[in-house]
Amino acid sequence: MTKKADLHIHTYYSDGTSSPEEVVEDARAAGLSCIAITDHDTLEGVKPTIEAAKSSGIEVLCGVEVSSSIHGKDVHVLGYLMDYDDEKTRQKLGVIQESRISRMKLIVEKLNQLGVDNITYEEVKAKTQSNSIGRPHLAQVLVEKGVVPDIKEAFNRYLADGAPAFVSVFKQTPYEAIKSIKECGGVAVLAHPMITNVDELIPSLVEAGLDGLEAYYPNNGQNVINYYLGLAKKHNLIVTGGSDAHGSAKKNTSVGRMAVDYEIVESLKAKACMA
Ligand code: AMP
Ligand code: ZN
Ligand code: FE
Ligand code: FE
Repeated sequence: MTKKADLHIHTYYSDGTSSPEEVVEDARAAGLSCIAITDHDTLEGVKPTIEAAKSSGIEVLCGVEVSSSIHGKDVHVLGYLMDYDDEKTRQKLGVIQESRISRMKLIVEKLNQLGVDNITYEEVKAKTQSNSIGRPHLAQVLVEKGVVPDIKEAFNRYLADGAPAFVSVFKQTPYEAIKSIKECGGVAVLAHPMITNVDELIPSLVEAGLDGLEAYYPNNGQNVINYYLGLAKKHNLIVTGGSDAHGSAKKNTSVGRMAVDYEIVESLKAKACMA
């Protein structure tokens, strides 16, 4: 049987709800040989997951999903195979955390001004183990307080891009995100391009050092996948894939929901060695 890898997973070290132990258990149940932890703007969940997987035989790769923004669009760049124990690497890839904190305080302020005045920053902060605080944490609080019936409505009514309480603070461009990942010895992959919708930038991102495209992503038709396979071939990029599992914070996906052949992991490793 071919070994399978899910290369896009969040834990409660960013905006997922699962602990490292739960992620490893889900990976085991899904029959995966390898998983990559790709929390938003933090490497904090990597080591605990490696520890949690020790007796499972499941290989855990260091990953990160770096936030950036260009022309008003949020662009996520996945980084793989950096040294999670290196202090400089942790700092470089965690630089967005500070701005996430100040941004969340601004969002809460906006909500308060909009009349949702029973929410505090501290309650949102209590939803995560790390500083990588994000809108899904706030959405959970809004649901728990009965302000909205579900997460989707929290985004639609208040938090989505362009909604009344939206604040974007990610000043870093995707070019800078790629540069940081590469300077840390990592492999840079454009996350879920079918959602991000910046295909016209792909040639310039490749010039900036982009190594791969996440063509395999849940709930996409074969025609979409084929389109990105074609783009990857054209630009000589590695094709990756993963579930983007967030535990119960994201519906319609879970660990192993999307998995790729282990050969892709070998391609990532070969690329990292060249860095
Ligand atoms: P942030 O990093 O704080 O900007 O939050 C981004 C995360 O919010 C994404 O990774 C998704 O998990 C989630 N998200 C973004 N838009 C929506 C939406 N319309 N509905 C539900 N979740 C969303
Ligand atoms: Zn997320
Ligand atoms: Fe993403
Ligand atoms: Fe993600």
